[in-house]
Amino acid sequence: MSEKSKVAIVKGKFPPDKTEIDRMVREAIGLIGGLAGKIKKGDHVAIKPNLFAPYPPPISVDRRVIASMVKMAREAGASRVTVIEGVSVGTLMKRVRPSLTPCGMSRGFKTTEVMKILGITKAVEEAGGEVLGIEEAAKVEVDIVGGIALHQINYPKVILEADCFINIPAMKTHTMTMVTLSLKNLQGILDERGRYFSHRDDLQQHMVDISKIRKPDLVLLDGLLGMEGMGAGEGGTAVEMGVIMASTDTVALDSIASMCMGIDNPLVVSTTRLAAHDGLGTANPFLIDVVGKPVSEVQRKFQLPLTYTLPLDSLVTGLYPNIDVYIGGACSTCWLMAALAETYLARIPRRFSLIVGVDPKIPPKLKTDLAHTFFLGECALATGGELRELRNAMQLAGIDRFLGGCPPYEQGLVKLEDILISMGYLDPQELVAKAGKHREEFFNYYRKYDPTWAPEL
Ligand code: SF4
Repeated sequence: MSEKSKVAIVKGKFPPDKTEIDRMVREAIGLIGGLAGKIKKGDHVAIKPNLFAPYPPPISVDRRVIASMVKMAREAGASRVTVIEGVSVGTLMKRVRPSLTPCGMSRGFKTTEVMKILGITKAVEEAGGEVLGIEEAAKVEVDIVGGIALHQINYPKVILEADCFINIPAMKTHTMTMVTLSLKNLQGILDERGRYFSHRDDLQQHMVDISKIRKPDLVLLDGLLGMEGMGAGEGGTAVEMGVIMASTDTVALDSIASMCMGIDNPLVVSTTRLAAHDGLGTANPFLIDVVGKPVSEVQRKFQLPLTYTLPLDSLVTGLYPNIDVYIGGACSTCWLMAALAETYLARIPRRFSLIVGVDPKIPPKLKTDLAHTFFLGECALATGGELRELRNAMQLAGIDRFLGGCPPYEQGLVKLEDILISMGYLDPQELVAKAGKHREEFFNYYRKYDPTWAPEL
């Protein structure tokens, strides 16, 4: 009979200092058998943490957790430890740089810049490792055997060739995948184009297919500060969990971690369910051996994102008196993007039309102000009939309100912001000030929890 998958849960003092975090990481890995057999003398170890954005925990993994893992890998004999990550699409494209006022508003952070700001680079180097951003990493084209949504991707050579691959996710809710744990964390491995394109409503299967290339040999979850609500970025709220988890089974870890977040049936998390279906690990909690603390001792009821607690259309239609939404034949991702676009338009005292999906039904001879009419998503840009006539009229008038892309993800919102700035409805100074204020709030919160931290700006 094959052995059950093991998931270790360690709960420590809160807030933990560096020594306590190191103790917790060592205990969690020890509970699943230690590093013997996983790392041997002279090995090259690749570590993939979740460093989502230029914000500290709970948005990104704690630098001290990563440093402990690097140190343990070196102690186990690794001759080289590479910490590799690719930040979120929003961080690459959209996040405003508060330091570069007056406007000229500048956007976007590379992964190595995020690593420096968060103190990851320093912590990793002091522990005996090196850092690498996906943007700079050498990649190889890989066929995904058994891929369902992803069949071929550019994959970082350093992970493919490493002797040991370690995944370090955070414990967060996510507006598009309910939670982001170890399976979702591997999205950062995709190159920039792959990360952008994967944000459709087959995102979950994309994440699962990435794991078919190389399953991590070890997963170490940073659940010290979790995130609930509208995660996985600035929209979420911190949850003081004080937990570290470890497993060699990615799916089992995600299953038990989601139960720790108060999700009674872990199979409602699509990445967990799909990965188990595709044979990547064990999702059924009855077939998993939980060692250390039981789930019941650490469990908290995380607030799920609104996208998982409310009907999606209730976030889009019938909401704002100044927005006429024409949406039809749209995927859930376009519905979500429409909801985000509306949050910009709702504040402007003008009437807007927003057209979304492959087959929205507009009234014949729709009377709409062309300058205040937005097409959102590739499908809306490919519609025929009346809508094509409307687009042609806009083209002839030199009006570009076409927020393209499939999905119309961060770049669609960047373009919307830029258009609203050019129309005088948004002030770039205000956007920069808002980004700065938001960033300070996150920095200040984390400094209370870890007084030894300061951003390297
Ligand atoms: S552009 Fe079309 S296919 Fe792409 S996410 Fe939107 S509705 Fe779906």
